[in-house]
Amino acid sequence: MNMKLSIQNILALVAVCVVVSLGVVSLASCSDPNVETLGKDAIGNDITVLKECAEASNVVVSVNQWESLVKDVLGQCANVKTIAGSDVDPHDYELKPSDIADLDNADLVVVNGAGYDEWAVKALEGNQHAAVLNVAELLSQNQYMNTQDPTKLEIDNPHLWYSVEAINILVSNLAGEASKLQGAVKAVTQRMVETSQKVSGVQNALASESASLRDKKYAATESVADYLASTLGLVDLTPAEYKNASANESEPSIASIDAFEKLLTANEVDFLILNTQEASSQTDRLVKAAESAGVKVVDVTETLPEGQDDLLNYIKSTAEKFVG
Ligand SMILES: [Zn+2]
Repeated sequence: MNMKLSIQNILALVAVCVVVSLGVVSLASCSDPNVETLGKDAIGNDITVLKECAEASNVVVSVNQWESLVKDVLGQCANVKTIAGSDVDPHDYELKPSDIADLDNADLVVVNGAGYDEWAVKALEGNQHAAVLNVAELLSQNQYMNTQDPTKLEIDNPHLWYSVEAINILVSNLAGEASKLQGAVKAVTQRMVETSQKVSGVQNALASESASLRDKKYAATESVADYLASTLGLVDLTPAEYKNASANESEPSIASIDAFEKLLTANEVDFLILNTQEASSQTDRLVKAAESAGVKVVDVTETLPEGQDDLLNYIKSTAEKFVG
């Protein structure tokens, strides 16, 4: 993480009583209550920073999982609109005309990438106006995912909001984008630092939980929470054939479901991770097998469920289900 660098970069962009807002340069008076003087530069000019944004930018988030972080960091500096909410499957969402209008009007768009919300990525092709933060690309550029060729995306599992690394990288980049749109805004920097501290808190909680969970085994009806499971030190024993079919959204073979069921009845795993938003007669069968064998079933979701609007709290409470 180059958090320190990001903060320095933002402070370096601080102008002398000049506020750049959405491309319009306006002169803000140094007595403006929204302008704070940080000190003097080498030639004696005041170094100032806006406390809050002069005007909110239009920010669109493709899927609801990333919404809370955007709001946490950008605060009043953004009018946030989210395209795919908790009640739709983002894998095969179809844009409505109003979504396209929102994307056209956006100053900044946050997408998951890695093929997850391709409908948003495609709609942005040719959009010269909006800045785009693509979480998968940010990870790839920063080589978090051990890519051989950093220009090539090799992220097989797109459920990146369960990855603390992905969360951290979005949080730090949001502040940088805000400073390009708004000029340096002290409140955004402060909120970025606070959000990063909150992420560290979650990271510490996961690390202490992993002490008791390390090397326990699981199988999952979908790869949704694999990044979280890996952070907790859990070992994935989901039958490969079943896993491939579910990743490609195709029907798993009877043989692979039988193999999955056997794993549960033979008590070879400690947990069955169930995506409750994609329950079916097959997953019901697996849950029954798990329950009769005493394998703990841990419910997870793809999108943040209704009533849960904070990704970090959601991750923390999901992780607690493995321990409790
Ligand atoms: Zn999914």
